[in-house]
Amino acid sequence: MSRPHDPLISIIVPCFNEEESLPILFARLETVAKTWPVRFEVVCVDDGSRDATWSLLQRQSAAFAHWRGFSFSRNFGHQAAVSAGLQKCRGDAAIIIDADLQDPPEELAGFIAEWLAGNDVVYGVRESRDDPALKQALAWGFYRVLEKLSSTPIPRDSGDFALLDRKVIDAINRLPERRRYLRGLRSWVGFRQKAVVFKRLARVAGQPHYTFKSSLQLALDGVFSFSTVPLRLATWLGFAISGLALLLAAASLLDLVSRATFSLPVIAVFLLGGVQLICVGILGEYLGRIYDEVKARPSWIIADSSDGPT
Ligand code: UDP
Ligand code: MG
Repeated sequence: MSRPHDPLISIIVPCFNEEESLPILFARLETVAKTWPVRFEVVCVDDGSRDATWSLLQRQSAAFAHWRGFSFSRNFGHQAAVSAGLQKCRGDAAIIIDADLQDPPEELAGFIAEWLAGNDVVYGVRESRDDPALKQALAWGFYRVLEKLSSTPIPRDSGDFALLDRKVIDAINRLPERRRYLRGLRSWVGFRQKAVVFKRLARVAGQPHYTFKSSLQLALDGVFSFSTVPLRLATWLGFAISGLALLLAAASLLDLVSRATFSLPVIAVFLLGGVQLICVGILGEYLGRIYDEVKARPSWIIADSSDGPT
């Protein structure tokens, strides 16, 4: 597969309160980029930071035209920041990395080589990760459950750290869906995909922003936007419980159940109440997402940019 002559690569960096990591990122990226056989631009999206992130990004793009910055009007979330970067980037391919350098920029040369060799999606698979034990364990379990449930095979232990060819970027940008689970969409679009194994490092500075709650939200988005299995689960449960109820009814009619089980109706009420609530909750998960999509609000608002002369 031929690649454009003298290609341009966009590096997309979502940034939320990253004033401590950014100076390190600026230096590390510039150093490793010297070894790349391609031109590059960096598209930083400030996701409504409350620290000096935006002024650092503005200063960087004032000094270097290939550093472009966009600032959201408030915090819209990591997936929105990456999606905005995909819309704004001009490269023949784009690479998504975290500002905290957990995805080592030194790996990018390998991604670019795979792209030049003809792969359209090159994604990082974490061989190990330097995160807290609980987060590692939950992530490990989550990726395996998602693999079982999802209608699209989503490679396990791969995050957003990936290179996307221009045709993949355009395909993802054209998708109308608002709640974006990018690592799922990246698999869904297809094209030639290639995994690259890497070691995910610890954050270089500052604090992680993904709380347990926001990681859980992302995990639920992953399951509910890529699988309708939970809906079917409700049906199966309904059948199973109704079958059980019929059996019990038959047993009591035939007087097979002793007097000691008279409390059974009470148990059944609780059981059925619980099961119904679970099923309503599952429906609610989908309904809430449908509601979000139907409202069709933009997923982010750009308040400011420092994009230099074009
Ligand atoms: N991030 C963002 N918006 C948010 C939370 C995080 O743009 O609301 C960025 C953050 O600056 C970083 C990347 O997303 O570049 C990953 O976030 P973080 O390091 O907090 O997550 P973790 O690596 O712990 O999963
Ligand atoms: Mg991180």
